[in-house]
Amino acid sequence: MKIAIVGTGYVGLVTGTCFAETGNIVTCVDIDKSKVEKLSGGQITIYEPGLENIFLRNIKEGRLKFTTQLEEAVADAEIIFLALPTPPGADGSADLKYVLGVADHLGKVLKGYNVIVNKSTVPVGTADKVKAAIAKNYQGEFDVVSNPEFLREGVAVDDFMKPDRIVVGTRSERAKKIINDLYEPFVRQGNPIIFMDESSSELTKYAANSFLATKISFMNEIAQLCERFGADVDMVRCGIGSDDRIGKRFLFPGIGYGGSCFPKDVQALIKSSDEAGYDFEILKAVEKVNAIQKLHLVEKIKEYYSNQIQDKHFAIWGLAFKPNTDDIREAPALKIIDALTEAGATIKAYDPEAMPNVKFHLGDRIQYANNQYEALENADALIIATEWSEFKTPNFGLMEKLLKQKVVFDGRNIYKNDHLLEFNFIYRSIGRSSV
Ligand code: NAD
Repeated sequence: MKIAIVGTGYVGLVTGTCFAETGNIVTCVDIDKSKVEKLSGGQITIYEPGLENIFLRNIKEGRLKFTTQLEEAVADAEIIFLALPTPPGADGSADLKYVLGVADHLGKVLKGYNVIVNKSTVPVGTADKVKAAIAKNYQGEFDVVSNPEFLREGVAVDDFMKPDRIVVGTRSERAKKIINDLYEPFVRQGNPIIFMDESSSELTKYAANSFLATKISFMNEIAQLCERFGADVDMVRCGIGSDDRIGKRFLFPGIGYGGSCFPKDVQALIKSSDEAGYDFEILKAVEKVNAIQKLHLVEKIKEYYSNQIQDKHFAIWGLAFKPNTDDIREAPALKIIDALTEAGATIKAYDPEAMPNVKFHLGDRIQYANNQYEALENADALIIATEWSEFKTPNFGLMEKLLKQKVVFDGRNIYKNDHLLEFNFIYRSIGRSSV
C-alpha cells in the first residue's frame, strides 16, 4: 500500500519505518526542514533502540522517503496517517491546531478516496472536527479513522511490530477493510485489532494513559506511607503485585511520571471531563501527587543538608524521562535540576543519550560529563534520576574514590540497601529505610 505519514517525530518516524518494513511504500512529511534533510540523508533524528537498522534498510530499498511537501506525500497515497503534536494549551486541553491545520490543508490537496488515520492523542470529537475541516474544501470521498498509538518510547519498534492490541475507531466498512489489511502482518500472533466507534477509540487512549498514571501516583503515595511507617515499598510492591488482579507491572515508585504523554494526557482528560460537566476527582489527585513526587527527592536532599545546599555540587545520572530514549519532555530530572540550581547548587550530569537535548534547553546552566564516572568527580553526592541499565551495576569502589562524600540520592530505587552499606555509602531512596 502507499502511505503518507504527516509528522515525523517519535510516533511518525517509528510508524513510517515499521510500515515500510512490512513492504508498504511510505512517504513521511514534516514541516521541520532540517529534520527532513537529515532523515533523507540517512541520519536518524531520535534515539530509539532497533530503529536505525530498519530505517536505513528501508531507505536503501526505496520504500521510505521524506519530504516537507504535504501535497507530494499524499499525491498517490491510499492512507494518510496524522502523527502530529497535540500539546497542552494554556488551559490544559489538547491543542488541536496542528491536527486541524493539516486537515484544512488536506482538503485542498486530496484527490480520490483516501483514509485519513489519526494517530495523535486527541479528545473525543476530533475525528468529526477533522472530517469537517477537510470537507470545507474537498467534496470527494474520504474517511477519517481514529487509531490511537500505544507504543512506548524505548521499546517503540517492538511495540509497533508486535502490539498488544490495535484500536481502530471507524464506522466505515470500507475504511475498516483497508486498515485491517494494513495491520494484518502485525497481529499474526493473534493479538486483536479492536474495532469500535471513533469516540470510544479516542477515549480509550486517554483512559489507558490516565489509568497508568494513576497506578504510578498510587504507588508513590504508598511509598510516602512506607517512609512514615518504616515499611519497605519493594516488599509491599511484590506483595500486591502477585495478585493477578493488580499485576506486577507499573508498581515502581519513583520521582513522578514525565514524558510527552502522561502529563499532557492526564491534563487533557481532566479538561475534557470539566467541559462535559464531570469532575474527574481521581485524576486531579493523580496530577497533584505527581507534582509533589517530582520534588520529593529534592526535599530529601534539602533535609539531609539542613537546607544548606547553596555551596553543594551534585552529580546527576540520567536526564531522559525514562531509560532507552533521548526524550526529555517533562523529565523529572529537569525539575530536580531547576530546584537545586535555584537553591544555588551546581551540577554535573551524565545521560547516555539525552545530553544533546538537555544542552539545547539548559545550555551552560549545568556541566555535562563524558561518562557516568566523570560526573562524580568532587561531587558532594550522586543523584539518580533515570534508571538506565548501565547505572545498575556500577563500580562502587570507583564511585567511592571519585565522590567527595559517599552519598547517593536514588530517585529510582536501583540499588539494594545492603549493597550500599557494604561500601559505607549513605543512601536515600524512595519508600525504603535510609542507610
Ligand atoms: P513529536 O513532537 O515527536 O513529533 C511531531 C512531529 O510533527 C514533529 O516532527 C513536528 O515537526 C511535526 N509537525 C508539526 N506540524 C506539522 C505539520 N503541519 N506538517 C507536518 N509535520 C508537522 O510528537 P510525538 O511524540 O511523535 O507525538 C505525536 C502524537 O502522538 C501526539 O499526539 C502524542 O500524544 C501521541 N503519542 C505519542 C507517543 C510517544 O511516546 N511519543 C506515544 C503515543 C502517542
